[in-house]
Amino acid sequence: MAARIIDGKQVAQEMRAELRQECARLKAAGIVPGLAVVLVGHDPASTSYVTAKEHACAETGLYSSDNRLPAQTTQEELMGLIRRLNADPQIHGILVQLPLPKHLNESEVLLAIDPAKDVDGFHPFNVGKMVIGEKAFLPCTPHGVVQLLARSGVPIAGAHVVVVGRSNIVGKPVANMLLQKKEHANATVTICHTRTKDIGYFTRQADIVIAAAGRPNTITADMVKDGVVVIDVGVNRVEDASKKAGFRLVGDVDFDGVKEKASLITPVPGGVGPMTITMLLFNTVQSAKMANGLE
Ligand code: NAP
Repeated sequence: MAARIIDGKQVAQEMRAELRQECARLKAAGIVPGLAVVLVGHDPASTSYVTAKEHACAETGLYSSDNRLPAQTTQEELMGLIRRLNADPQIHGILVQLPLPKHLNESEVLLAIDPAKDVDGFHPFNVGKMVIGEKAFLPCTPHGVVQLLARSGVPIAGAHVVVVGRSNIVGKPVANMLLQKKEHANATVTICHTRTKDIGYFTRQADIVIAAAGRPNTITADMVKDGVVVIDVGVNRVEDASKKAGFRLVGDVDFDGVKEKASLITPVPGGVGPMTITMLLFNTVQSAKMANGLE
């Protein structure tokens, strides 16, 4: 059976159209959701992520405040900016693009962000609320994964989900979200990592496999059962002399092999990737509504 492809670009476009409508309704009530993006230094990948986030804000009807600081910015200067953004009523979300230059204390910066503006969902206050099942800003990539499953009609309640990867950014939060006793959750969740003895033993039992290891070919066709749903979070560069850039992007899953057994599968690129910025916009709109007593 060849799998149906979950088109992340299409799902992201649908969600952005909903958010545009929501922004138009809020604008009529005098509310413009505002996202402050903070970039320290000139890392090319970070610069292009930040630019993409600002474009997405403009397209969707959010205000974005561009805070690009020189690489030699001091901790005190950066903390001062965070304090100003925390106090700015036009700003409902603060995103500090990571990684920060090495001389800066990343965790001190993230802890300084007002949890009510932590639209990345990385502040321990929001992480804790997520874990105990309270309303919180959910981290964008894992939340995007859950939305892809839900909007593709995949039954999650009662399913056995195997997550490969246990990072704080993807693996742990996605496992936690799917475990919750609420809508789009109630799964039985197994988490695998580099110390797991036989990953295939677990993934072969999975109704849903979520691959977030950051290694190509971590999941191959012999490691999944027929009909499995596969979400590939991985983004890896592999050398490819036929490409102008000299590389191409692949996920963690052997897409060509696994798609012959899966019922649904996300491609890379075009699967989880487009959802991440969309969920950032979603969180910022939520934050603006909460700040104005609408949620
Ligand atoms: P990470 O911090 O490097 O964590 C990778 C996790 O995978 C670790 O828990 C590691 O286990 C585990 N792992 C690595 N190799 C493994 C293997 N061969 N077998 C089993 N487990 C293995 O990476 P991350 O930040 O979670 O990101 C994961 C992938 O998702 C990367 O490719 C990243 O680029 C991609 N990503 C994509 C998006 C998007 O928007 N599409 C967003 C974020 C991340 P240990 O804990 O034992 O070391």
